[in-house]
Amino acid sequence: MIDFQLTSTQAQVKEFAHQFSKTVVRPISLEADRNHRIPDEFMLRLSQMRQMMTVGEVPAEYGGEGGGAGESKDKKGKTQKNRFALIGAEELAWGDASVLLSLPGPGLGGPPVQFTGTPEQRQRFFSVFKEPGLHYGAYGLTEPGAGSDVAGIRTSCRKDGKHWILNGRKCFITNGGRADWVVIFATVDPSQGRAGHRAFVVEKGTPGFSLGKIEEKMGLRASETAELVLEDVRIPDENLLGGEAHYARGKEGFMAAMKTFDSSRPMVGVLAVGIARAAYEHARDFVREHYQLARAIPRYAVLAQTLAEDKRLVDAARLMCWRAAWMADEGVPNAKEASMAKAYAAKMAMKVCADAVQILGAHGLEQQQFVEKWYRDIKVFDIFEGTGQIQRIVISKRILRESPNF
Ligand SMILES: Cc1cc2nc3c(=O)[nH]c(=O)nc-3n(C[C@H](O)[C@H](O)[C@H](O)COP(=O)(O)OP(=O)(O)OC[C@H]3O[C@@H](n4cnc5c(N)ncnc54)[C@H](O)[C@@H]3O)c2cc1C
Repeated sequence: MIDFQLTSTQAQVKEFAHQFSKTVVRPISLEADRNHRIPDEFMLRLSQMRQMMTVGEVPAEYGGEGGGAGESKDKKGKTQKNRFALIGAEELAWGDASVLLSLPGPGLGGPPVQFTGTPEQRQRFFSVFKEPGLHYGAYGLTEPGAGSDVAGIRTSCRKDGKHWILNGRKCFITNGGRADWVVIFATVDPSQGRAGHRAFVVEKGTPGFSLGKIEEKMGLRASETAELVLEDVRIPDENLLGGEAHYARGKEGFMAAMKTFDSSRPMVGVLAVGIARAAYEHARDFVREHYQLARAIPRYAVLAQTLAEDKRLVDAARLMCWRAAWMADEGVPNAKEASMAKAYAAKMAMKVCADAVQILGAHGLEQQQFVEKWYRDIKVFDIFEGTGQIQRIVISKRILRESPNF
């Protein structure tokens, strides 16, 4: 039996996140975009949201029961963590996706530490987030010559006694400049391809590890995207995730990079859903306000049809994201479904945001209009976390493998 009804705790998370987004996030959204940054004092308030997003908890001071609701189990005793995260994330992205990407916490760096790190490493690297103040993790895979082609990374790692020496350059790293630590993927030998990959945690302040430029982007401008430089960075053995023996099996470093996507792609998909929903609702309200009293005019019917189609697409994308998140919670392999959700949601959201601009006409292009910003913000969703083309490669490989008669 499939049940789409939110539990009372999930409904509380959704309502809390929506109210926060509406009253706190939206009001700073356009200015943060213009300034390419979110004010620090605002970031501190976000710490509360990070806690909620990570464990699905509604803080008691906001009327929730506290106690880590996201860790609560469904009827079969399985975690609902991914589902909770998606429900809150859509609401926050509805407010401003840059704000969500700037939430303090391990970010994309979390999954490799979680899945590949030893218990000591998990304890060590996650403990920083319990300290007061703003703390970030980051995920450093992309290089100037290797984005989609992950096997092509050139950042090198060389063993030196009980240390490793890292050299290379990473680009487009979300929160890379402010992170307490970054998971850096490097290779012992590029000719080994994926088997040569290793995952290190490189801590801020390590000599030779420096910030390059902060990228200037078309959209998501308030989210920090940084270039990181590694020049003879000396890393202790203890920072090689999983320890050396872990990599003897073959492609474990590459797998550490890829496993992140099983939970992050449904999340990225639902962020696109949040932006698309925001754009759709904005356009819907515009049509209602400007044209409903003149229903007889042909343009009303055409615009209403566009809205009807967009509403259908937004809801379909959300269901795909929820399915992939549910599979992650169940421990069912979901690489195909995660890619489907992400690829579909990104394309859908680009259409819905473009429709919103179109419906507003010239007003949709004004810089003080949210739809202009959402139209710019949404493009990156078809690029990061694997481009649309790469998602289609992942999906097609799996459907052909799964269906010999396809
Ligand atoms: C805002 C932002 C945040 C980011 N955050 C992070 C982060 O935190 N950490 C991180 O490591 N990276 C991050 N990235 C980088 C992002 O993951 C890469 O941009 C993405 O993987 C694409 O790589 P690329 O830009 O090098 O494009 P390329 O890989 O060079 O792709 C260029 C074009 O070629 C196509 N293409 C490439 N290979 C194939 C193929 N085999 N078949 C068909 N078409 C193909 C692509 O689809 C694309 O259209 C971020 C990027 C942005 C913009």
